[in-house]
Amino acid sequence: MGNAHRAGKPGVPRERLDEGAARAAICEAAREIWQRGLGGAGDGNLSIRLDARRVLTTPSACHKGHLHPDDLVIVDLQGRTLEAARGRKPSSELVLHLAAYAAREEIGAVIHAHPPAAVALELAGVPLSQIYVSEVVFAFGLPATAPYTTPTTAEVGQVLQAYLRCYDVVLMPRHGSVTVGATLDEAVLRLDALEHSAKIAWMAHAIGAPRPIAPAEVAHLHRIAGRPPAEPGAVGCPPLEPAGARRGAAVVDAPTMRSGTALAPTASSEAANVEAALVEAVLAALRKAAE
Ligand SMILES: [Zn+2]
Repeated sequence: MGNAHRAGKPGVPRERLDEGAARAAICEAAREIWQRGLGGAGDGNLSIRLDARRVLTTPSACHKGHLHPDDLVIVDLQGRTLEAARGRKPSSELVLHLAAYAAREEIGAVIHAHPPAAVALELAGVPLSQIYVSEVVFAFGLPATAPYTTPTTAEVGQVLQAYLRCYDVVLMPRHGSVTVGATLDEAVLRLDALEHSAKIAWMAHAIGAPRPIAPAEVAHLHRIAGRPPAEPGAVGCPPLEPAGARRGAAVVDAPTMRSGTALAPTASSEAANVEAALVEAVLAALRKAAE
């Protein structure tokens, strides 16, 4: 059972790592994320807040399994590079890390990854906000899915900041996840729990039609975990998923997704075809994996 952590709780004291330990911890976590298939070798980025004005982060265009502590870059909270080895620069996705640190003071570490099962479920229109296994609540509460934003642009930070004020795990459609924690370990555990629970949901959907845990029981689990049971609907918190982001929603172009406009459902026969194709694709993938 993971630590209860209440999103938005101000002023939580955080034990800060010294810089050498933080460099080693990021390299180790990056290697683990790559080796466990939570992202491709060049995917994603990690960071730790060193102190009130400095952030240590992975550089652009690096192999996550081969990072050396000296490869890491130190930036300020506005994204300006303070320290970097020759030829190293921050990732173009630094904006999402800065958004997280601006969102809540107690966030001490941020991981952006491309976990395949979680991203695949979102693509297939299976809402991550539906809870199938209780461990999710204990690990991170509820996963939110933000509206689509174009990777590396400023809008990523603008949208994510609002979500990270309320949630510890946020999925970016057609892209990847952001998990935060008071420590890097906590952010790793949340990424791991997100992907593990997504795999369970994926398998269950391939086998049949799983039923999520009832909302009253989810609220009960939140109380046991020490989280506010009304977290998803708390005042000022964005919704857990964009309107219309469900299975059978029409394919739309990027500007429509960015606007947050509700997606029009397809005709029922077309939706049924899409669903049948999705189920067949999942079953084919499972058969291949079992070979
Ligand atoms: Zn990314």
